[in-house]
Amino acid sequence: MSFWEIARKYILVHKCGCCRQILDRDHFDDALCPKCRILWNKSLVESCKKCLRPAIECECMPGAMAGEGALCLRRLFFYESEATYSPSMSIIFMLKHKNIRRITDFAARQLLPSIKEALSALDFEDNREAFFVCSVPRGRTKIREYGFDHGVLLASRIAQLLEVEYVKAFSSTFFSTEQKALDRKGRFKNAQKRIRFCDEAEVKGRYAILFDDIVTTGASMSACVRLLRKAGAKGVLCFSLASSKKDIR
Ligand SMILES: [Zn+2]
Ligand SMILES: [Zn+2]
Repeated sequence: MSFWEIARKYILVHKCGCCRQILDRDHFDDALCPKCRILWNKSLVESCKKCLRPAIECECMPGAMAGEGALCLRRLFFYESEATYSPSMSIIFMLKHKNIRRITDFAARQLLPSIKEALSALDFEDNREAFFVCSVPRGRTKIREYGFDHGVLLASRIAQLLEVEYVKAFSSTFFSTEQKALDRKGRFKNAQKRIRFCDEAEVKGRYAILFDDIVTTGASMSACVRLLRKAGAKGVLCFSLASSKKDIR
């Protein structure tokens, strides 16, 4: 065992991404302790009130996204509000506030099966260059506050695992309001003002794998889908960690 392997195993401390309990050596590389993992797994199979399928298999999406021509929306779990305490929401909180590679990797790997499943219908394996990953941009004030865009980190990891290119397709304009602070109508208006397409992004004739951490009204995702389609993307497949139950059509 090398020095670093010993240090990793015996000196470094890894905590559960949810309850912050110190992980024992058997679970050292996990993002969650066994107890939180059980709750996490439970949230993945909570059923959709519309299609009755488990969250990770549900393909329902907000009407606005369907209206812009999104090919699908897949998520890991549903949520009611950010105030609800659960391992799934805790992981999102961790991703937003701390740049921990182990947690980013965990979230990316959790999303991977449904992404691969959605891509399998599009001849993905033989045609990887026709696909790229991109993400809904985080607000500029938040990037400045935390020093990173967690969506970029997670989407880049997904791209790496899929062996496709990550494309910086969007940026946030200055002085934008946080989506969370607005009502439904305000969110759609703000999203269109807030998100800018990066003209040098090569999206024409390719399929976009678009990622956002949380989808509520679908305003930000819809704005991105519209910009991608306008720039000539062949199709846009959307993925998120969580989505609200309320806006599903
Ligand atoms: Zn835990
Ligand atoms: Zn559904």
